[in-house]
Amino acid sequence: MLYDMIVIGGGPAGYTAALYAARSGLSVLVLEKLSAGGQMTNTEQIDNYPGFPEGIGGFELGERMQKGALRFGAENQFSEVKSVELSGQVKIVRTRKKEFQARTVVLAAGAYPRKTGVEGEDRFAGRGVAYCAACDGMFYKDKTVAVYGGGNSAVEDALLLSRICKKVYLIHRRDTLRATKVYQDALFGSSVELVWNSRVTAFLGDKHLSGVEIEDTKTGEKRELSLDGIFVSIGRIPDTGLFEGQVDMDEAGYLIADETTRTNLPGVFAAGDVRTKQLRQVITAAADGAAAAWNAEQYLAEEGC
Ligand code: NAP
Repeated sequence: MLYDMIVIGGGPAGYTAALYAARSGLSVLVLEKLSAGGQMTNTEQIDNYPGFPEGIGGFELGERMQKGALRFGAENQFSEVKSVELSGQVKIVRTRKKEFQARTVVLAAGAYPRKTGVEGEDRFAGRGVAYCAACDGMFYKDKTVAVYGGGNSAVEDALLLSRICKKVYLIHRRDTLRATKVYQDALFGSSVELVWNSRVTAFLGDKHLSGVEIEDTKTGEKRELSLDGIFVSIGRIPDTGLFEGQVDMDEAGYLIADETTRTNLPGVFAAGDVRTKQLRQVITAAADGAAAAWNAEQYLAEEGC
């Protein structure tokens, strides 16, 4: 079957593109590797997506977005895309077992956590080093943990963990946070202990993490902090490796597209966190999805499809 649209990635951008396209009568397939919602599923509670005055769980919002798209006939398959050929008029998308074809493709693969690259990180991954507090926080109930980072995600994770764990440190390389004021206010009123001007220089332990070595960024002094676990939350990297050499990217790997979501390739659109943009939020991802579907429709009309 030749789909009108294949959407790669089932987060807010992907399911919104699918909803708009399916509702306009286009045949749409969404390919998602894990579960509906993308990065939202790692967020315990989303308070800044309008329409939910009490907030909503990230997992639930993902499922609702998926249902909204499926209601209008979009199809959904859970399998990981392994390769793409995007330059021809018919676009080819391959998973491990199948090959799909479409007239347009929306790239909405989102982003994944940045690693520190510091000694011991990979060895202790899943054994004391974690990247998602909402997913793995309960493993550290009544334990001592740290969160590494100073952005919204790190503060959100530290606050979540402070409700579960015995002790939570927030380790940040500077003495001011990047997180917005609303998060900072909550943090400063919480039990989380801040470890300012500190960089993690080694993950320590035998079979399981037992602590980290941290270096004072001002004095260069090193010391050890005993921990049962650490949540690394130092930003995200766009999941765009598959599109390298085909779709134009900036130096950080974001797909170059403005708010039309059109990329350098006709019929290929970039929506959500994968795109060059100022603000990466659930609502801006959803907005991109709507723009991608509308622009895809225009493209199909121009092509006489
Ligand atoms: P972020 O805003 O880019 O913050 C990353 C943090 O990690 C920064 O504090 C940064 O330090 C630190 N960092 C980066 N590389 C590091 C390294 N190699 N070693 C040590 N520290 C390092 O990333 P994020 O918190 O994951 O958020 C991603 C996006 O999602 C942002 O746009 C954020 O606003 C959004 N978000 C929004 C919400 C919300 O509004 N509800 C919640 C979560 C996330 P410096 O500050 O020194 O650069």
